[in-house]
Amino acid sequence: MKVLVINAGSSSIKYYLYQMPQAEILARGVVERIGEETSKLSHLYDNKTYTIQTRLENVEKGMELILETLASKDVGVIQGISEIGAVGHRVVHGGEEFTGSVIIDEKVIASVKKFADLAPLHNPPNLAGIQAVQRKLSGTKQVACFDTAFHTTIPKVAYMYGLPYELYEKYGVRRYGFHGISHRYVARRAAAIMGRGKYDINAVTCHLGNGCSVTAVKHGRSVDTSMGFTPLEGVPMGTRCGDLDPAILFYLADKGYDVKSLKILCNKKSGLLGISGVSNDVRNLEELAKKGNTRAKLAIDIFCYRIKKYIGAYCAVLDKVDAVVFTGGIGENAVFLRQQICTGLTQIGIQVDRAANQAAIAKEAEINTKDSRVKVFVIPTNEQAAIANDTYELTREKQVVMSKQNHKHIAPLSKLANKPTH
Ligand code: ADP
Repeated sequence: MKVLVINAGSSSIKYYLYQMPQAEILARGVVERIGEETSKLSHLYDNKTYTIQTRLENVEKGMELILETLASKDVGVIQGISEIGAVGHRVVHGGEEFTGSVIIDEKVIASVKKFADLAPLHNPPNLAGIQAVQRKLSGTKQVACFDTAFHTTIPKVAYMYGLPYELYEKYGVRRYGFHGISHRYVARRAAAIMGRGKYDINAVTCHLGNGCSVTAVKHGRSVDTSMGFTPLEGVPMGTRCGDLDPAILFYLADKGYDVKSLKILCNKKSGLLGISGVSNDVRNLEELAKKGNTRAKLAIDIFCYRIKKYIGAYCAVLDKVDAVVFTGGIGENAVFLRQQICTGLTQIGIQVDRAANQAAIAKEAEINTKDSRVKVFVIPTNEQAAIANDTYELTREKQVVMSKQNHKHIAPLSKLANKPTH
């Protein structure tokens, strides 16, 4: 069965065509700069790259081009789009409603629309991707995999804020958490590497990319996470500020900042970029810090210090910690940052081996010392594989089970269908 995975954002769509259940990627690519004159599709197939530049007004046009390309005579990998057995979408916000991935129907679509209020930048393009597929591939099953779903196991004590309770009841003001597909994937990989079942692990997972979040995973389930009502909370990120005294915003409002400028300030001008004044990329900051740029060094120091505090806090939340996991562009590649984050954590059982850490770039590796009570892993995230897998599990229809009695009994596997996967 061929499964198409779609991650549609406001200006880009990433796609992967998988052959399942082997999880082999037949083709993948990205459409960028949607809405601009210079929209571009880059398509990778058979170790070759094909690019085309053409104006794409919206996500729907982008999706049309992707489907055409996948089935094109010259650079395609399928005879026709009807070969696509199912489509899995990354959807950012599923509120409290979706505890796992689900087959998309009109009710799911209505909910994704409803939660656009909570994720105005993400849910609308996610929805546009779903609707474009509905139009071009009507009848093909689609699955929504939510970034928030993994975090729906967080207990109330961890998801409520110290605000009047009625704000939760009236507006849904609570911690939702994000990056759930990634945290779930790496926690399960860590369990598998340790030879355990997926619910037999306690871990602190650190997804450090452009956006960063840290999650406490207990018995394989999220019990707390650093991102909150929005992805702005938690550790400082490339351009987001992370945790803040909210009174700073009132103070700045008194100084003349309006809501719009405060949003831009906290989301686009803060974090590593805001502190350093030069870059949101840790590679640049490391170079500059080495040359004596004190603000670049300060940005790195603050970033590492705040992640370290979250690791410490989540070790307190979990009775016992089996593993700390690093993932995301920074977590997978930034050797010096991993070292700095883990320095001084010996008393909570975390010790990184310098040489093992240095060798672990963009690959799965165990980087703790032999004496470390807690395992430390680098695990490249693979959200698309997780989405392909959920989509396959929810949409495959039948499995032939040879009955001992009559050899022709067909047992439906659809018990899985319409039930969330966890
Ligand atoms: P996104 O959250 O958009 O998926 P990524 O997970 O790809 O982003 O992370 C992007 C960040 O990862 C970059 O801003 C950079 O700071 C960091 N990064 C990427 N590659 C490297 C590398 N080779 N060494 C150090 N840091 C890296």
